[in-house]
Amino acid sequence: MRTHTAVVYVKLEHEGFVGWGEAALPPYLPETQKTVTDFLLSFSNSNPFNSIDDWFDKLNLDQTNLSAKAALDMALWNLKSQKENKSIEELLRIEKSDFPLGTYTIGVSSFDEMKTKVEEGTKAGFEIFKVKLNGESDTDIINDFRKLSKKPFAVDVNQGWKTVDEAKGKISFLKDKGCFLVEQPLPKDNLDEMKILKQNSLLPLYADESCQRLIDIDSLKECFDGINVKLMKCGGITEAYQMILKARELGMKVLIGCMSESSVGCTAAAHLSSLADYADLDGPYLISNDPFEGMKIDEGRIQLNPLEQQLEF
Ligand code: MG
Repeated sequence: MRTHTAVVYVKLEHEGFVGWGEAALPPYLPETQKTVTDFLLSFSNSNPFNSIDDWFDKLNLDQTNLSAKAALDMALWNLKSQKENKSIEELLRIEKSDFPLGTYTIGVSSFDEMKTKVEEGTKAGFEIFKVKLNGESDTDIINDFRKLSKKPFAVDVNQGWKTVDEAKGKISFLKDKGCFLVEQPLPKDNLDEMKILKQNSLLPLYADESCQRLIDIDSLKECFDGINVKLMKCGGITEAYQMILKARELGMKVLIGCMSESSVGCTAAAHLSSLADYADLDGPYLISNDPFEGMKIDEGRIQLNPLEQQLEF
């Protein structure tokens, strides 16, 4: 179980307004606090600030350092929203619609740890869970979960199944147990096998590791029913929005997710969440030292609140 995640916060001050961004850096990402701060410093040193839109244009030319880029992109959107006195949804011309249900993530853990997590998620108001599997003790994990909760659940296999036959068998078991979605069942590059699995799957299949950016989506249409869009993977709100539009154009479903960001990153993603089928934005509920408040879960659904700093640092 991970006990901490490195983050970098970005604070942009301009004409009395303050925009916040965040890069969350779990150990499986290539970026570190040093690479993120190096990127931010070199970007700001080499690009004199003329306007928010000018910085967006320059930032969108960059195709590397995606978590750093995401942090700056969301800070720019946060700043632009305040300066123009419009919500980010209004700026993107997102029509008002219902917010989706949010999942509460349960990592691979002992029965007692899972019991604590299920209680925490239920108390926080979540109506659906996302249970992580490991490919080895999947049946035990789900049987344990079912002893603790009757609520619907998604699973994240994290590339843990090896063959189409294994996946088919486990999906059949999961459907019987009340699972509604399977994330990243096979290794990320096994797209030929994914095509076969999609034709035979009893549950919708969502790409996470297989789908990093906008450019990936076309090749995934025959392999997955949906994609998991994360700001840290694609470089921020700007590309995440384009990814959602692209997925919809191809008739695919969308889950908007996170990398255990605090309220800064999850609130940024929540601005796009009314366009998604599900939201996995439980970061603020999984950390104990969130310096901000913002999006919440209300009766199981995303509730979008303005971002507010609670702790100075
Ligand atoms: Mg995942």
